[in-house]
Formats: sequence, structure tokens, C-alpha cells
Amino acid sequence: MRETCRQCSAELIGPYCHACGQKRFVDADRRLGHLMSQFFEALTSLDSRFWRSMRALTLQPGVLSAEYLAGRRQSFMPPITLFLLVNLLFFLAPPLTDFDLSFVDQVGGDLAVRAHPRADTLPLEEKARIADYSGQAHSPWTTPWVERRIAQMRADDPALTVRSYAERYERSSSNISKLLIILHVPLLAAAMALILFRQRRYYAEHFVVSLHMMAFMMLLMIAIGLALHVELVKRYAQTAIGLGIPAVAGVYLSLAFWRIYVLRWWEAVFVALVWLVALMQINVYPYRAIQFVLANVLM
Ligand SMILES: [Zn+2]
Repeated sequence: MRETCRQCSAELIGPYCHACGQKRFVDADRRLGHLMSQFFEALTSLDSRFWRSMRALTLQPGVLSAEYLAGRRQSFMPPITLFLLVNLLFFLAPPLTDFDLSFVDQVGGDLAVRAHPRADTLPLEEKARIADYSGQAHSPWTTPWVERRIAQMRADDPALTVRSYAERYERSSSNISKLLIILHVPLLAAAMALILFRQRRYYAEHFVVSLHMMAFMMLLMIAIGLALHVELVKRYAQTAIGLGIPAVAGVYLSLAFWRIYVLRWWEAVFVALVWLVALMQINVYPYRAIQFVLANVLM
């Protein structure tokens, strides 16, 4: 009797369907044991797509993107899936400050003074210094907006203070900031499309590269966040974050771009620097503004 594929009804010639790729369905595939073994295999098999992808992402800069762009896509996870999984890990890891500034750092002037954790006991000169601070690039627009929000909420809840509002903000903002990391990717891809326009690649290809690079950046931040739990590292924390992230990222990105875009080494270093500068600019301007507004609205 001729056997057909359960998925697409094409005639089966071997253990896998030539039309859709599904494995030949056998009776054991109905059982619970099959479900469990599938689950454990995905989790533990060091050769599974997940672990293979993670290994390539951490140890072989640029391999994931280069393979994807060359059309070899079977051995690794799709870029967006890998990004979301790493984003999930990042979500569970301890936060780092640049992606999640405190409320006081995000607003300007008088509001920052009133939101300060030690608002009542601050010395006058300290108060004056904070009041002089103009906040972030978005603060001239967002600070009056937040003041109006607090005033409106106070109408319903007279016990609400600026400080308690700031505390509520800070409870929600860390999660929002992690969820929004992906906002960096489309703009980074645009920067790459501009600087590498001679390569005549699709925007989507730069997008994939930036997904992989941002996934690596998140892993790097997870690693540094964990390292900060070690006492010795903690003592040198400022140096570790200030020098560690740009140094490791710079080397990684240079190697990755050299491989992906087939550049000369100095071109690769230059593109890596542009990418890092673009990342910082995107982080400081659009990302912080969107993150701040959404964290206020969704808190
Ligand atoms: Zn089939």
C-alpha cells in the first residue's frame, strides 16, 4: 500500500516527506513518551538548533548572520526567534542602568527634586544642583506631561505624592525597558544600510545582522550583570562596565562585520565603531523617550 504524508498528502518515498519535510508519522508518535522525548531533546541535546545557535552567537562572531545571508538557514534558529529567546533571558537577569534610568534622572528641575528618594532631608545646595539638572533630551517635553499626569491622578487619590509616583514608575520601568530593547534594531539596520550602501544589500539583511548583534549585546550585559555579584568585580564595577562593554563589543563587532560583509580589517573596525556610536545615540534619544513615556502610561 502506498503511504502518504500526514501533513501534505504527498506520497512518501523515505523517512521524510520530499514536499514538506515532515517526518513519517508512526504509531509511537501518538504517545506521551514521544512528546516528552521531543521536549528533553530540545532542551538537552547540545546539537539542537538552540544550543548550536547560542554557541555560534557567543563564540563565532558573525557566523549566524553570514550563514543566514548565504542562504544556509537549516542549522540555526531563525534570527527573530533567537533574539526573542535571548531577550527572555535578559528579562530574567539583573538590570543594568543605561537601559533603565531612574525617574529622577529622567525628569528635569523641580520635579526631580520632589521625586528624590531623600527629598525631605536633602541639603539645600544638593537640591539646587538637582533643580539645575535639565534631565534627558526628552525631558523638556515629557516633564510638563508627567506633572499634568500626577496632578490628574492626585484628583482621584489625594494621598499620591511625587515620590510615590516615582516609586511606582520604577517598579514598572525595568520590565518595559527590557521589552523595548528591540526598538534599537530597525534604526541600527538603517545606519548600516547607509554606511554600507555600496554593498547593495536588502534592508532586511542589515536587520538580521543587527538582531544578532543586539542579541550578543544582551548576553554581554547579562554576563556583566552576573559578574557584578562577585565581590572583586563589584569593587571595580565602574571600570568593568565603562571599559568592559565597549572593549568586548568592539572586538566582537569588528570580527563579525569582517566576516559578514567581507571587509578589510580597518573597514570592519570602522563599521563596528559606527555601529556602537549609533547604538548609543539611539539609546540616548529615541529609546529613552519612548521607554519613559510607555513606562509612565503602563505603570
Ligand atoms: Zn508532506
